Amino acid sequence: MPSPTATVSLQQRQSKLASTKQQINLLESIDLSHLPEQGDFESTLKQNAWQTLTPANLEIFQINVGKLCNMTCRHCHVDAGPDRKENMSRATIDACLAALDQTEAHTVDITGGAPELNPHFRYLVDQCVIRGKHVIDRCNLTVLLLPTMEDLPEWFAKRGVEVVCSLPHFRQPNTDQQRGDGTFEQSINALQRLNAVGYGQGNPSRKLTLMSNPSDATLSCNQAAVLEKMWKQGLLENHNITFDRLIAINNMPISRHLEWLEQSGNLQAYMELLVNAFNPDTIAGLMCRNTISVSWDGRLFDCDFNQMLDLEAQSPPHQDYPSLSIHNFDPHSFAQRQIRTGRHCFGCTAGKGSSCSGAIAT
Ligand code: SF4
Ligand code: SF4
Repeated sequence: MPSPTATVSLQQRQSKLASTKQQINLLESIDLSHLPEQGDFESTLKQNAWQTLTPANLEIFQINVGKLCNMTCRHCHVDAGPDRKENMSRATIDACLAALDQTEAHTVDITGGAPELNPHFRYLVDQCVIRGKHVIDRCNLTVLLLPTMEDLPEWFAKRGVEVVCSLPHFRQPNTDQQRGDGTFEQSINALQRLNAVGYGQGNPSRKLTLMSNPSDATLSCNQAAVLEKMWKQGLLENHNITFDRLIAINNMPISRHLEWLEQSGNLQAYMELLVNAFNPDTIAGLMCRNTISVSWDGRLFDCDFNQMLDLEAQSPPHQDYPSLSIHNFDPHSFAQRQIRTGRHCFGCTAGKGSSCSGAIAT
C-alpha cells in the first residue's frame, strides 16, 4: 500500500524550521505590538489574575512513543514521517510504567507519530490495561491498513482501548488536501473495520472519537457541536459509518503548520486571530495543568506542543534537580514545576480553547 504523502519532513528537507529555536524565534519576531499585552502570553495570563501557570492534579499520562509515521501530513506539529527513526525503547517504556505507578493518573494517552508502529506499543497498552487505566490510542486510521496491523481493531476492542482518530474532514477533497491523495478512502476503510468490531456504537468500552482540525488558517474549536452533527450525518449517509463523538482542535503554529502559515502568507493574520480570540475561561482547563507529557527519549514536558518545541519541563528552582526525566521521575518535583509558555500557547486559549480532548470552555 503506498503511503499517502503530502510533503516530506522538515528534518529531511533540512528546513530552517527543523530547528525548534528557529520556530520560537519566528513566532517571537511577529509584530503583535498593536494587540493586547503586545501578544505576550505570560503578560496576558497575569492580566487575567494568573501570576504563574501552575499544575493541577495529574490526570493524564501522555506518552509520545516516537516520530515514526506512515504519513507526512502537511499540518503535522510533530514533523513526523516515514523518515523519522526516533522510537521509544522498551527500557524507557518500563520507566514510564514505573512512573505511572507513582501517580494518580486515570488515563494513559499514547501518541506519536503513528504510535502503533513502535515495536513495544502492544506491550505498553497491555501493561496500562493491567493497571486498570483508561487507554487512548491516537490513530491516523491509515496505519490500520498495514498488513501487520490488520488485527488491531479487534485487539483494541478486547482491551477496551479508546481510539481517537484524526480525520481532517468528512469529505474527501478536504482530507486529501491536508494528508495526501488516497488518505480519505483509506480512512473510510479503517473506520469501517472499527465499526465492524463494535466501535462507534455507544459502547463505552468501544469508544470511537474523531478529531478534526481546519485545513486553513481558521479556528475550528468553536463549532464542535454543529460539526459533530454534520459529520455524523455525512459519514452515515455516504459511508454507513458511525462514531461516538467529534473533537475539533485548532492547528498550533508549530513545525509543519508553522511552515505552511509562513509560506502561504497567513502567519501574521493567524497569530492575530489567536491573540484576539484569547478567552480567559480556558486557562483553568489548559491540558498542561493536568497532564504529563513524555517524549520518546524519556524527557518530560508540560504538553505535547512544548515537547515539539523542546521546551522541557522545569524543575522547581529551589531544588538541585538537573533535568526532569522519566528515568528519575519524582511526582512531587513535577507537581511543583512552573509551566513554560510562549506565543504558541495562544492556540490553546483561542475561542472555546483547544486541547487533545477538544474544546476547554463551554
Ligand atoms: S499529523 Fe499524525 S498522521 Fe500526519 S504525519 Fe503527523 S503524526 Fe503522522
Ligand atoms: S501549548 Fe497549550 S497546553 Fe502547552 S503549555 Fe502552552 S497553553 Fe499549556
